[in-house]
Amino acid sequence: MAHILLVEDEVALAQFIALELDSEGYQVSVAPDGMTGLTIARQSSPDLAILDWMLPGLSGLELCRRLRTTGSKIPIILLTAKDEVEDRVSGLDAGADDYVTKPFSVEELLARVRAHLRRTQETNERVLQFADLRLDLLTHQVFRGDRMINLTVREFDLLVYLMQSP
Ligand code: CA
Repeated sequence: MAHILLVEDEVALAQFIALELDSEGYQVSVAPDGMTGLTIARQSSPDLAILDWMLPGLSGLELCRRLRTTGSKIPIILLTAKDEVEDRVSGLDAGADDYVTKPFSVEELLARVRAHLRRTQETNERVLQFADLRLDLLTHQVFRGDRMINLTVREFDLLVYLMQSP
């Protein structure tokens, strides 16, 4: 069961979204402000985060940036009433994966949540990881940290075998 962090200060909207996510079978944590959201994200490492842009204290954008700088790779969807191009750009620069502009239909939000979680799932099945070693079964790329390692076909197959039974 996927765990979703929802950070939204409008109580009625937060409750509505949380209820919808819950009825789709997700486990939902709701935070009313950015700092609480950050604390929950650090303590419980959710699978996906839905962040409202305008929040008291730490904004959704700043929260997004902080999550990325601390290495979080979870899909992040920003909810925003702002729909100007510059705003979208700063959101993407901050590390958001997606946008939903208010007012939005909950079906659209749920569809995006499903799409992002499916993508994470596919990546998890495709990529083997051991310490700082990362191997992509689809692209046949191997990384140690950020550095790509060139391997022969035989070396690659052997590494797959070793990483599948560490
Ligand atoms: Ca808000």
